[in-house]
Amino acid sequence: MHDWQQRPVGSLTGVGKTMAEKLARLGINTAGDLIHHYPRRYEDFSKILPIRLMRPGNVTFKGEVERVAARYARARKLHLTEAIISDGTGTVKAIWFNQQWLSKTIPTGTPVLVSGELKFKNNDLALQSPAIEVVEPGRITKDTARIVPVYPETEGLSSKQLRGLIQPLLPLAAATDESLPPEVVEEAKLMPLAKALREIHFPGSQSALNKARHRLAFEELWYLMLTSLVIKHEIMTESAPTIAFKVEAARAFVNALDFEMTPHQKQAAWEIFQDMNKPSPMNRLLEGDVGSGKTVVATMSAVMALASDYQAALMVPTEILARQHAAKVAPLMKKLGYDTVVILGKQPAAERTAALKRLEEGGPLLVIGTQALLGEKVTFPNLGLVIIDEQHRFGVEQRANLKAKSGRLPHLLSMTATPIPRTLQLTVYGDLDISVIEGLPPGRQPITTRVVEGKDRDKAYEFINAQLDEGRQAFVVCPLIEASDVIVAKSVTAEFERLQKGPFKKRRLGLLHGRLATAEKQAVMDEFVAGKIDLLVATSVIEVGIDVPNATIMLIEGSDRFGLAALHQLRGRIGRGAFPSHCFLIAESKSPGTAERLKALERSQDGFRLAQIDLELRGPGQIYGRRQHGDLDLQLADIGDAKLLSSVRSAALKFLSDPAAMTKNPHVAAKVNALKAVTSLD
Ligand code: ADP
Ligand code: MG
Repeated sequence: MHDWQQRPVGSLTGVGKTMAEKLARLGINTAGDLIHHYPRRYEDFSKILPIRLMRPGNVTFKGEVERVAARYARARKLHLTEAIISDGTGTVKAIWFNQQWLSKTIPTGTPVLVSGELKFKNNDLALQSPAIEVVEPGRITKDTARIVPVYPETEGLSSKQLRGLIQPLLPLAAATDESLPPEVVEEAKLMPLAKALREIHFPGSQSALNKARHRLAFEELWYLMLTSLVIKHEIMTESAPTIAFKVEAARAFVNALDFEMTPHQKQAAWEIFQDMNKPSPMNRLLEGDVGSGKTVVATMSAVMALASDYQAALMVPTEILARQHAAKVAPLMKKLGYDTVVILGKQPAAERTAALKRLEEGGPLLVIGTQALLGEKVTFPNLGLVIIDEQHRFGVEQRANLKAKSGRLPHLLSMTATPIPRTLQLTVYGDLDISVIEGLPPGRQPITTRVVEGKDRDKAYEFINAQLDEGRQAFVVCPLIEASDVIVAKSVTAEFERLQKGPFKKRRLGLLHGRLATAEKQAVMDEFVAGKIDLLVATSVIEVGIDVPNATIMLIEGSDRFGLAALHQLRGRIGRGAFPSHCFLIAESKSPGTAERLKALERSQDGFRLAQIDLELRGPGQIYGRRQHGDLDLQLADIGDAKLLSSVRSAALKFLSDPAAMTKNPHVAAKVNALKAVTSLD
């Protein structure tokens, strides 16, 4: 990147403190940010017409100011500037509001270019607040007589002002070094970067604009694609323990289950076995809707590792989930002759010591835990497989850590209920192989979902009470507030108290949130599982994977604050038993868009479909965007553009086919390294 791009906006001419603050609101802090603040759309004012031929609508003409007058319209509390402009074929009137200074800049006789909307006003054709620029030799227009860029704006910062800031940067941009390798630009017939930056802001023509967009979109995707290909290559060159498929182990596992695995589960397991049988590490993502039975597949993979005398680790997001998995999986493993240990951030010292000892001994063992598994004191001399639940993939650091712990990279399996759209699979997640469990195991009860208005909350409570009378259990989920833990805990506690005093006076209520001590959380969960709590008031973040078949109702407050995929995940906590289930969604916002979005949950119980709708409604930025990925901010690339993706992909593959490609292009290597770090965090 060029030095000028690093310059803080405050150092640019015309940018004072206030302006800098406004720019910061748009995420613009440097000159580079400014040049990469691409227009949202354009208005084509490029065609200059004689005044005589102008018709109502968007027009541009070139003329001379015949008369100009400014006055204060007391009744309307407005400064009015009126000008009569003529071009020899006719005259036309233009009016501006509150631009007192304007009349001085366009005295009678000034040659001007004017672009704006011509409208009938009091039986007269006139322009209201058109853009106007003085014609000077050599001056390139920015607001008139061209395809005019319209930018994402913020209060007090108009597109006109942004144009005024960006235009002076164009000579600098014109000297920008090419950011793609020259052979890529050449082979894909891309517009050079310097030109693309100019044309994206101030296009000379529609076709130049299209080429500029294509070029910049290409680059956005090219780097992502390249990064994932590099990650894939790096993993493939590691050596991993070879875990052979053992038919007896598979048979014993299947016989120990009290149900039959679905064909999709078997298929996914088979794909995993084949990967683990290779000398390089697996890097696979197992996708499946909430309740689709990913854990069974993961457990079977672990058994295969243990059967080859390796250890396997299952890492889950919370301590409660770790306990719950252990409670479920340990007996199954026992049947097969294997032990399970648990490692958590907080756990009884004796349990931890014993677990660490077993790990060090190196014999076949399943260890279940949280991030604490990656802690310093934990060693895995004999690790064959690591499974990570509810995450899209392992990050660079996690991988490095695992490699350090066991001397080499184990096989990696991540599991998620949030499917990755096909197009992102190719770019951001191109390093992963993917297995999908489609559908749910047979015999599931449907979940009826209803969007409920706040005023009908009591009716929902009545319904819940009736279900509790039947012996069922319920969740009330409190909104995810973008605030500190403390505030979240407070609001969920307040809701708990309100419900306990009011609508659920006679019920046994439980409260669960992140601020509770682990032991407390565990106690509450145990009671809920044991049926000693009727209704659990909880925050959303708390327990993604909890499995309580008798819980059949969920009421979600502030549901508009969640993405569809997240709501679907939450809803997946019910509908797990023999009874029909019900989910109520209460929204805070009354906007029609909200209701529309939530209605999708009434209609569909297919997590993959919902994720797709979510993506369409909110865009990838919201879902896979800035928050998780920092730089992963696709401004121009349409992630659904299959043609673009495929040409980007072949360009990236071709580039990498030269083993010296990275050394020859150090700036590419640097950018890929930076992206590696950001695209690895889920
Ligand atoms: P998730 O994919 O959400 O992690 P789980 O692995 O927790 O799903 O499975 C959800 C429930 O379905 C568990 O109680 C599990 O025992 C059960 N289950 C999994 N596979 C099957 C199957 N093939 N037939 C019947 N029940 C199954
Ligand atoms: Mg799960």
